[in-house]
Amino acid sequence: MTAITNNLQVIEAKINDACVRVGRSRQDVTCIAVTKSVSVERTEEALQAGILHVGENRPEGLALKQQQIEKERAVWHYIGSLQTRKVKQVVNEVDYIHSLDRLSLAEEINKRATKTVKCFVQVNVSGENSKHGLTPEELQPFLHELTAFTHIEVVGLMTMAPNTEDEAIIRNVFQQLKQLQLQVQALQLDYAPCKELSMGMSGDFEIAIEEGATFVRIGTALVG
Ligand SMILES: *Cc1c(COP(=O)(O)O)cnc(C)c1O
Repeated sequence: MTAITNNLQVIEAKINDACVRVGRSRQDVTCIAVTKSVSVERTEEALQAGILHVGENRPEGLALKQQQIEKERAVWHYIGSLQTRKVKQVVNEVDYIHSLDRLSLAEEINKRATKTVKCFVQVNVSGENSKHGLTPEELQPFLHELTAFTHIEVVGLMTMAPNTEDEAIIRNVFQQLKQLQLQVQALQLDYAPCKELSMGMSGDFEIAIEEGATFVRIGTALVG
């Protein structure tokens, strides 16, 4: 594994270049280090290197990291699929949940939350069976059902691009998510400002930034 400072330099340059190519400000993109596959020590190294945002995809992994790293030292993101019965382990320990994808999950988050929880609604734009998330058609009806849940704020939409070499396919998925985000934002729902786009991972974050990502979730390329 290379030192995280080196990885971070490379990724920072790529993020910056992608922003420049499309005339965006670097400040509008937040880089989340996905630490789900690495140790507490490696996560600590990432924080020392200047990483502020950390993403975990299992309640157990989150708990493990938070047992040894003070919560105040990072902004914590829950990025994985979340079983309803495990919501209580996660909901008040993180700053963002990226995987809101069904009403039963929203109900449980709302019930267990002691403060407003910033959520991304996950959309399965590519339509792959293996992927979680609402279909684009389900998105708006779903959002309207969230009215009653006073502890949920929909800050944006999240998606995962298909695992393909075909850049055009990936780009198209990100463009579709951007269009959906604009449609939701235009509804002006007070509980769903929906200004953010969580999209882009190690293999495709530059395309995602070109297409409007405001949060990129980078694991392998950053922390190994
Ligand atoms: C693992 C994971 C990532 C990071 O993937 P890399 O390809 O390692 O950068 C991003 N988002 C989600 C939801 C993940 O599960």
